[in-house]
Amino acid sequence: MPAPTTPPPIARERLPALLAAMPKAELHIHIEGSLEPEMIFALAQRNGVALPYADVEALRRAYAFTDLQSFLDIYYAGASVLLYEQDFYDMARAYLLRAAQDNVVHAEIFFDPQTHTARGVAMETVVNGLYRATQDAQAELGTSSSLILCFLRHLSEEDAFATLEQAQPFLDRIIGVGLDSSEVGNPPEKFARVFARCGELGLHRVAHAGEEGPAAYIWSALDVLKVERIDHGVQAIQDPALMRRLAEERIALTVCPLSNLKLCVFPELAQHNIRQLLDAGLAATVNSDDPAYFGGYLNQNFTELFAAVPELTSQHAWQLAHNSFAASFVPDEQRRAWQNRLDDCFERFAQPA
Ligand SMILES: [Zn+2]
Repeated sequence: MPAPTTPPPIARERLPALLAAMPKAELHIHIEGSLEPEMIFALAQRNGVALPYADVEALRRAYAFTDLQSFLDIYYAGASVLLYEQDFYDMARAYLLRAAQDNVVHAEIFFDPQTHTARGVAMETVVNGLYRATQDAQAELGTSSSLILCFLRHLSEEDAFATLEQAQPFLDRIIGVGLDSSEVGNPPEKFARVFARCGELGLHRVAHAGEEGPAAYIWSALDVLKVERIDHGVQAIQDPALMRRLAEERIALTVCPLSNLKLCVFPELAQHNIRQLLDAGLAATVNSDDPAYFGGYLNQNFTELFAAVPELTSQHAWQLAHNSFAASFVPDEQRRAWQNRLDDCFERFAQPA
């Protein structure tokens, strides 16, 4: 793919407004991770679910994570309030409304059905609630969105196959599959057969790799699972041969800066390696991961990242947004239309204020 022509540079003081205004796609958002403490308590009350936290503030105080697992424990507790189709609708609706405020024009939304089916919630309940919210967002907000079913990697491949079986009647409402949850000790190879089956079914494939796990997991996500994008992938920096491959093949990385900070992947945002990834020619993007838990939605990720890393310029901002559309699972015509809107936005900002 030829390098796209970048727009003229824009003054640093205009960056926060530019980052907020530019149209963008979000490709790494776990819908269960958008459940705000207030909604967790409201749904708990509506559904008569008891929570191990006294109030919203006590729950928020528990969000002091030390690593991925400490987060996952609370994340699964929060999801326990989701029982009915309307709950899934309300959760996705709240995210899509919030994303529209950040000028997210397209979102590819992860959901974790096993978190719900293990509690006796039907696949149909989950998919129908989420899907109806995506349809309404298109009609009412003009926000495009689609659903990616994620397998929980701490569970068995057998369980993933059973989940795929349950999802069969709804495959017209799902664009692809992903792989999430506890990374270390659960390498991509564990899911080789189920991902091969998903490929035969014509589903897009992505996987979390190289967040806490080693660069080797990124190689096997590409070579064994045949993924089209890598979720996170920041550990690629440890492996020069992998960096070259990711750049040459323009494999997108869906990087999540505030998540990396909260889960201690980087001690400070200033030490985040996204600039090195971009400057090495990798198709990095910025995403919010689990925004209710990690301190911010998409624009917050952009503004905090750019404030912390002074070497990031308007050219990087453009590249990140451009990459988000390039890596989206949408028809080329739609992609180009969004990229043209992005260019128009940068041209407006290049005019004297
Ligand atoms: Zn994630």
